[in-house]
Amino acid sequence: MIFKFGKKPEQPAEREYRDEEEYELVKFKGATNGNDPNLHRAQRLVDAGLEPAKELVTDALLRRSELIRIDPKGAQSQVTLFIDGMPYSGGRLGKQESMAIVQMLKLLAGLDIKIRNQRQKSGLRAALEDDSYELELTVAPTDAGERLIIRVKDLSLELNTVEDLGGNVDHKQKLRDLLSDNGFLAIVGPPNSGVTTAAHAVMRGLDPYLNQMFSLGDIGDKELDNITPFEPEPGEELDESLRRLVRQEADIIFHSGIKDAETASTLLKWAKEVSIVTEYAAQNAAAGLVQLIEWSQKPELVAETVRGVIGIKLIRRLCPACKQVFKPNPSFLAKAGLPDDLGQLSRAAPRGEDIELCDECDGFGFRGRAAAFEVVEMNDAMKQLVQNKPSADEIQRLARKEGMLTLQKDALRLVAEGVTSLDELQRAFRSKK
Ligand SMILES: [Zn+2]
Repeated sequence: MIFKFGKKPEQPAEREYRDEEEYELVKFKGATNGNDPNLHRAQRLVDAGLEPAKELVTDALLRRSELIRIDPKGAQSQVTLFIDGMPYSGGRLGKQESMAIVQMLKLLAGLDIKIRNQRQKSGLRAALEDDSYELELTVAPTDAGERLIIRVKDLSLELNTVEDLGGNVDHKQKLRDLLSDNGFLAIVGPPNSGVTTAAHAVMRGLDPYLNQMFSLGDIGDKELDNITPFEPEPGEELDESLRRLVRQEADIIFHSGIKDAETASTLLKWAKEVSIVTEYAAQNAAAGLVQLIEWSQKPELVAETVRGVIGIKLIRRLCPACKQVFKPNPSFLAKAGLPDDLGQLSRAAPRGEDIELCDECDGFGFRGRAAAFEVVEMNDAMKQLVQNKPSADEIQRLARKEGMLTLQKDALRLVAEGVTSLDELQRAFRSKK
């Protein structure tokens, strides 16, 4: 680790060098838009910005950040790192240093460094030790200067399957049931909550020998080996693409994300002919179903074609190296809704001034994330309810009554299995993400 992180990660930590330690810096491997810069022509910027940019990104990657934000604020810029969904201070930068870093990263990502009053977006490939990353840069003007957001895609990340996400055999069986016939299956979660990762994991779990599967739309760099990307003709509408796919006898079509009513209506219509899986942002499964009714304005079509909506919530995993196991008392278990014969639970290691930081998690107590799942299924009772344009609460009530899997219940499974702690569960369900 390059920057000493302090003992309490939640507290803003000033950046501090550990001079005595040898470390390797990130290598930038070129812009994803193919617009590779001529660094010789920007020698002054390179002198001022390259080294600090490398240090900042290296630090963020070593801490496993999924997002880096540099916010200009008066004479300084605030760096914020998001790690497993939680924001942490990455320290402050002086105005000149911050500008040099932002301009340098823009240049490396093939963006126009002369433009500072417009939103620009591009990607930058990077490598650190044996790991490859793609950094997705967005710069946007603010009153105080340019804000930079870097979304980190760890290309070697192992959240590839439903099992990696913490799902089990029951989840996989449920998925297979939901996809066993034509219809519409949605995977939803709050914005930026990892729902795309989860949807890809679900798709990867499907058997290419049993199904002819195609993907529609941009699924990014994450490879879905078992699925053939469908290339629409130039200018081809979604409706026509779907018609052609059905003609090619596709079994399952993975659509990379609904953002508007027209797309939703088109997909719902075609779900009578083929199995369609898609993902979009919604607070939970019930809200996801309400969203479909609103988009399509056709409750009958939703009732007829939707087979289920899967809600996903990512919860931080306890670090296996430093988590503590304890014997809970039965009344505590009962209060938490856990089986009272559970022999042991796990919790994060305590943090404190005199406690040595765990190497595996840098003293966070957590490493990586697991998913809790919930499923709203379109059974007869749900079909009837959907006709009346129900609220998310009404859907949730019926789903519970019908014994469907709820997020909270599935998340307790992760606690019972020692994957996460009750404290983390409480935190996750309090936050909107
Ligand atoms: Zn640890």
